[in-house]
Amino acid sequence: MSTLTQRDQKVVWHPYAPPQADPLFGVVSAEGVRIRLDDGRELIDGMSSWWSTIHGYRHPAIEAALKDQLERLPHVMFGGLTHEPAVELCERLVSISPDPLERVFLSDSGSVAVEVAIKMALQFWQSRGRPERRRLLTLRGGYHGDTFGAMAVCDPVTGMHGLFEGSLPSHLFAPRPECRFGEGDAGTLDHDFEAFERLFMENESEIAAVILEPIVQGAGGMWFYSADYLRRVREICDRFDVLLIADEIATGLGRTGKLFACEHAGISPDILCVGKALTGGTMTLAATLVNRKVSTALGKNSPGVFMHGPTFMGNPLACAAANASLGLLEDGKWQPRVEAIGNQLSAELEPCRSMPAVADVRVIGSIGVVELREPVDMSIIQPAFVEEGVWLRPFGKLVYTMPPYTIGAQDLSAITRAIASVISNHS
Ligand SMILES: *Cc1c(COP(=O)(O)O)cnc(C)c1O
Repeated sequence: MSTLTQRDQKVVWHPYAPPQADPLFGVVSAEGVRIRLDDGRELIDGMSSWWSTIHGYRHPAIEAALKDQLERLPHVMFGGLTHEPAVELCERLVSISPDPLERVFLSDSGSVAVEVAIKMALQFWQSRGRPERRRLLTLRGGYHGDTFGAMAVCDPVTGMHGLFEGSLPSHLFAPRPECRFGEGDAGTLDHDFEAFERLFMENESEIAAVILEPIVQGAGGMWFYSADYLRRVREICDRFDVLLIADEIATGLGRTGKLFACEHAGISPDILCVGKALTGGTMTLAATLVNRKVSTALGKNSPGVFMHGPTFMGNPLACAAANASLGLLEDGKWQPRVEAIGNQLSAELEPCRSMPAVADVRVIGSIGVVELREPVDMSIIQPAFVEEGVWLRPFGKLVYTMPPYTIGAQDLSAITRAIASVISNHS
């Protein structure tokens, strides 16, 4: 009998990997913040399975909701039909998201939620009789997903646009804002925003929307920028009636210390995308929220409908899981937990700063990042973390963690110890 990983290597293709990936670890189960491998080892999860398992694995409230839903209505089409889990979820999302977002379009993944947001922005300007407004303005260092529309607004370098040049629409890229979150450096802020403003003004008549990840740029560079910058982007969009799309697929639902990262700047976008943590990491589900300005324009003018409809739209099982997961956030207890994780990450990762291999250490909410001077060698560093009993998945020069909000102080220390020891031994 061949092992799971041997069988995998014959037929399975993994993300961002060659057809036959190595090294792979087989997983048999997971509970709380622990992932159990098929060789019996247990790993403390520092990744929340790509930002999603915010309550840890196998949370009883989410499992109960899934089982209950499974016995009544696992799925039904969403065209012409509706059901309690979807209506409840949309009500919840409208009530917790920044006002005045008031209508929700459900989809199956973050990338699709971004595609939906982009299509809405284009249809918005068509219905307003301004179809020439079809370009998007975004920031370098961004990540918005891997489908074509989303990929076209990812960072052109780290998003590997070169591979698909000619097949992608050409959008506008402002420099990454260098003014850091929480730092009131007016000089850097002015400099950052001037570059954005110049690009905006030069192309204003063609811009449909600005799309960005508010405050935290995730997979494009794990970078945290100033709330004042975001506020100024909102102001200029308002001045010229350009739509603002906030991609909160990674930042939404508490990760940055606020329920939505836009709250750090006290702004509301015209269109907001959520995903990743929406079902607490159990089912695939995403949502695109819009304000009345967007929904009215699309509804009133020809064709009067939004042209999108995934087969599994509003899947009742996924909605039930999301309702249970959002229910767990309702008492607000996540917030002091996220803050405590952030404080501990700051204290325990800070010593890494003095290591010769380390360029920067930064923390926001429950996200901790150690940026190295050189890219890591994944074939060495990945097994090294597993040896240390933790699951982390660095990329490029970035070693980072965003653990489940439920992680205890000792488990979190195991993660920060592993980061320090693996960096000092292997880079
Ligand atoms: C992960 C991510 C996406 C894409 O979501 P998928 O569910 O992987 O399609 C889009 N935007 C941001 C900010 C993300 O972090």
